[in-house]
Amino acid sequence: MQHQPEHPSRHQTPGGRPPRKLSLITPSGRLTLGNHLGALRGMVAAQDHATCFFGVSDLHAMTTAHDPAELRERSREVATLMLACGLDPERATLFRQSEVPAHTGLAYLLECTALTGELSRMIQFKEKRRQAGGATGARASLFTYPVLMAADILLYRPEAVPVGDDQRQHVELTRDLALRFNRSYGPVFTVPEIEVPPVAARLRDLADPTRKMSKSAVSDAGVIRLLDDPATVRRKIGRAVTDSDTGPDAVRHDPVAKPGVSNLLELVAACTGSSPEAVAGGAPTYGALKKLATDAVVSVLEPVQRRYGELARDPGAVEEVYAAGARRCVEETGPVLYAARAAIGLG
Ligand code: ATP
Ligand code: MG
Repeated sequence: MQHQPEHPSRHQTPGGRPPRKLSLITPSGRLTLGNHLGALRGMVAAQDHATCFFGVSDLHAMTTAHDPAELRERSREVATLMLACGLDPERATLFRQSEVPAHTGLAYLLECTALTGELSRMIQFKEKRRQAGGATGARASLFTYPVLMAADILLYRPEAVPVGDDQRQHVELTRDLALRFNRSYGPVFTVPEIEVPPVAARLRDLADPTRKMSKSAVSDAGVIRLLDDPATVRRKIGRAVTDSDTGPDAVRHDPVAKPGVSNLLELVAACTGSSPEAVAGGAPTYGALKKLATDAVVSVLEPVQRRYGELARDPGAVEEVYAAGARRCVEETGPVLYAARAAIGLG
């Protein structure tokens, strides 16, 4: 992994205590390599130096049409995969959002802070509304979900939010709401910073590199799932869209002119701890690059899948981790919701 220049505040707050970090993953589908490289890896790294709260945002999985049994199953799978990827209940608090009532409690107070204009500008709202069948077909929660996400974050007073680049606009909104609330009613919230990884912060769909890889994508063809077997990984990468360039420098990192090739280079770089340019130097052809990519992905997924298999044999133990985390979060968030209520004029 390339290293960003480190700022001292990344590891310690001015008061000398470790920073607090919060990140959530929505069980809206089966987790992807994008979720792993863009978010989970940063979350795993954060456990070593920060006080971490990491959650399964099951409420966010109900903003579009959903099936209750499937939601329950996906939520279990995501909770288990978070552990399989290396999140450790000894070093981070793991929880399900729906089990911590302060999330929805604070969301309403923040809905009284947010403006409809700023919510209408959210890119993900516009995209998912289109997918959900236009303005009349979208759930109201799809519109208000960034406010719930702001509540998810602000309740834990984190300094940093380790997420993929696609969450930039939502974290910006969270900052705006925190600043506006603090200015209007008093200093209740910490204003958080986004923290994105240096490479593969926005992994693209292999079949359509103009789109980001998403677990809720309509087509599975260009989406690598964390539980895909090696043959499936090989097939999806083998069919990844590149371009018709056959020149001597066809394998090069140029995201604008060569989105498909650049995406594969970033994927290998993120999996192997290298840089896209160095990877390009070792792959003379698209075929060689795809072989490198397949090997790199399979070796990242192999230990995750092995651990997942072990954890899945004892679902009760996984549930206990999340139940204990939720109890801790209820204690943690109660005083913050209380402070917000008092500041806004309730109680
Ligand atoms: P959905 O399609 O339901 O929105 P998603 O794949 O975008 O699913 P989220 O639950 O919205 O996943 O996001 C979980 C985390 O994964 C976030 O931190 C997000 O920024 C990150 N993430 C999602 N997709 C990518 C991607 N393609 N590249 C890097 N990071 C990503
Ligand atoms: Mg998303």
